[in-house]
Amino acid sequence: MSIYDLTIDELTEYFLKIGEKKYYAKELFSWLYNKRITSFSDATNIKKETRERLSKDFTISNIEIVTVEKAKDVRKYLFKLRDGEHIEAVLMNHDYGNSLCISSQVGCNMGCKFCESGRRKKVRNLATGEMVEQILKVENESDLRISHVVIMGIGEPFDNYDNICNFIRIINHLKGLNIGARHITVSTCGLVPKILEFSEFPYQVNLAISLHAPNDKLRGEIMPIAKAYPLKDLINAIKIYLEKTNRRVTFEYIMLAGVNDSVDNALELVHLLKGINCYVNLIPYNETEALQYKRSNPLTIAKFYDILKKNNITVTIRREFGGTISAACGQLRSKKEEI
Ligand code: SAH
Repeated sequence: MSIYDLTIDELTEYFLKIGEKKYYAKELFSWLYNKRITSFSDATNIKKETRERLSKDFTISNIEIVTVEKAKDVRKYLFKLRDGEHIEAVLMNHDYGNSLCISSQVGCNMGCKFCESGRRKKVRNLATGEMVEQILKVENESDLRISHVVIMGIGEPFDNYDNICNFIRIINHLKGLNIGARHITVSTCGLVPKILEFSEFPYQVNLAISLHAPNDKLRGEIMPIAKAYPLKDLINAIKIYLEKTNRRVTFEYIMLAGVNDSVDNALELVHLLKGINCYVNLIPYNETEALQYKRSNPLTIAKFYDILKKNNITVTIRREFGGTISAACGQLRSKKEEI
């Protein structure tokens, strides 16, 4: 097991179980996340036998960077995991800080028709530590501090729920990576029971919903999950989430030419989101070789944007990063593995 799988509470339990002082958990967190040791033997204020015990019980490095592709304000990382699988993360330099988009699974079972990652079925969940290490490795390679994390890479985070929650506990912890909860965003295609469960999770993180269509018929055509959880249930769950958390949700809406980008679609979306404390992010689609979808033209996107805006919906058009380096959604992994 990786040492990065453990929250500070779990590490405290571990130290107590082996008959050690519980404050060692805080010490070790400092060594791992502040001083960034790569070997337990470097944790010099922990006694030698305990360090040896730690090296027997835990691994410390479990993922490695295979390639880094760089373009202006963006770096795309391909990682290899211990079992030989590959995942990706994307670093974006914004004016407000450095944001890292991390993967949560190897493959994905959601099967969204437009998504490159979903072309490969889920092989397994990522362990908590494999998510934490994406941040550590990128900070080390880039020499930058990651201030924002979005769980929007390969995988469906709510299909790996417990590990995602522990991941948030670790990266948010003061002695961990100390990334503010409001700087962490979880994106889901809409697993209703997990949205409800997440409304009880006591961290002020952001929730983004991949909506992509304003009605069940269209949504069902591009996102199989819509058949399991129709919009009525999804919107209901979101309302409960908003009520419990007092927060705002983001709706992501990919603009697919001729599919979901008409004036009628925009009006329907206005109707669907009426009265919900939300903000809509229109995403220019990243075209990918294996799939037939095309991005909407800029004028269509602008028109769609105007309709939402005129109807008092807070809306932005996502700034684009990394089109030239296949930074979009699972493309680097596909290139590497050629499936
Ligand atoms: N499974 C989660 C998180 C991963 S996908 C989710 O569905 O939210 C992250 C976001 O990227 C989703 O909104 C997804 O629909 C979107 N996406 C997938 N393929 C894309 C592409 N080719 N271009 C633009 N956005 C894409």
